[in-house]
Amino acid sequence: MSGAIPVDVRGLLVCPRCRGELVDAPGSLVCERCNVRWPVEDGVPFLVDECARPVEPHP
Ligand SMILES: [Zn+2]
Repeated sequence: MSGAIPVDVRGLLVCPRCRGELVDAPGSLVCERCNVRWPVEDGVPFLVDECARPVEPHP
């Protein structure tokens, strides 16, 4: 299985905008404070502003 972020790396990850906690989501990490989704591809999180996507409100 690929796609999982290594545990030791995951523990270090914070939102690059607010330094807040990130929540695991399928294929991404979500900052609920910023309402931003950071993509994760093959276990590599893209925590750069150009990659940030707004979180769609849940229906
Ligand atoms: Zn944030």
